[in-house]
Amino acid sequence: MIVPLIKGLALTIKRFLNPNTCVTMQYPDERPILAPRFRGLPELQIGKDGREKCVACGLCARVCPSQCISVEGAEDETNRRYPKVYELDAFRCIFCGFCEEACPVRAIILRDTFELATYDNKDVFDKEKLLDLTRKRNLPK
Ligand code: SF4
Ligand code: SF4
Repeated sequence: MIVPLIKGLALTIKRFLNPNTCVTMQYPDERPILAPRFRGLPELQIGKDGREKCVACGLCARVCPSQCISVEGAEDETNRRYPKVYELDAFRCIFCGFCEEACPVRAIILRDTFELATYDNKDVFDKEKLLDLTRKRNLPK
C-alpha cells in the first residue's frame, strides 16, 4: 500500500522539479501538435481574384455521406458560376474528406480547424464563415 504511494509521490516530485517532462499542456497558450494527415473542418478556398474558388457544381454535397452540405448556385454578370448559398452543418460533419476529394477545383479543403465548441444546439457554417477560416489563415502573422 505504501510503496505505490511513494512511487506516485516520487513521480509527482520528479515532474515538479523538471517541468519539461510534464505531459499536461497549458491550452490555449500551448497548441497541440496535430498529425500531418489530421482532418479538421472543411474550409472554402479563395482564388487569386479574391473570390471563392467554388463553382457551385454541387459534387461535394452529392458525395457527402452525412448530407451536411447544401449548395445553391447562381451566375454573375460575367456568367461565372458561384455559390449563392453554401452551408455546412458542423454538427453532422464526420471529417471524412470526401468533399475535398470530389471537388474538381480544390475549393474545399480540410485543414486543422478543430476548435468547434459552441453553446448553440446547431452549428451551421455559411459561406462567409467558411471563407473567413481561409482569410484568417492568410493574414500575415
Ligand atoms: S468531410 Fe465528409 S462529412 Fe464533412 S462535409 Fe465533407 S464529405 Fe461531408
Ligand atoms: S466546393 Fe467544390 S465540389 Fe463543392 S460545390 Fe464548390 S466547386 Fe463543387
